[in-house]
Amino acid sequence: MVYAYDDQNIFAKILRGEIPNQTVFENEHALAFRDINAQAPVHVLVIPKGPYMSLDHFARDGSADEQVGFMKAVAEVCRLEAVDAGFRAVANAREDGVQEVPHYHLHILAGRNLGPMLMG
Ligand code: AMP
Repeated sequence: MVYAYDDQNIFAKILRGEIPNQTVFENEHALAFRDINAQAPVHVLVIPKGPYMSLDHFARDGSADEQVGFMKAVAEVCRLEAVDAGFRAVANAREDGVQEVPHYHLHILAGRNLGPMLMG
């Protein structure tokens, strides 16, 4: 698999401060912010700060520090958003995964019963 990161994607612009976001949490390696089109009462996107297109790209090429930093950000989002009743984490990748933004992001959805995992 060849990963060709496009630094003009909207999340790269958010990371550069060119587009505003509603930040929930940030550390050295990750940024978490509210999805602009929330599908649940809690809908936060966690993204690495490095140029990774998808979960498999980040898992293959992200450094151990980046991967740990990212997962610690996920833990902080869960704590801050108090998702004690449960949540769903979704990572869409490429065409079949219906990924719209080609910068890896993990959706954290919570705040209601989320129903069946797949609708289509
Ligand atoms: P995906 O289909 O997994 O690539 O999801 C991309 C997500 O990014 C969608 O849920 C969009 O609502 C969300 N999104 C797009 N632009 C923005 C933005 N400027 N700020 C926050 N979320 C965004």
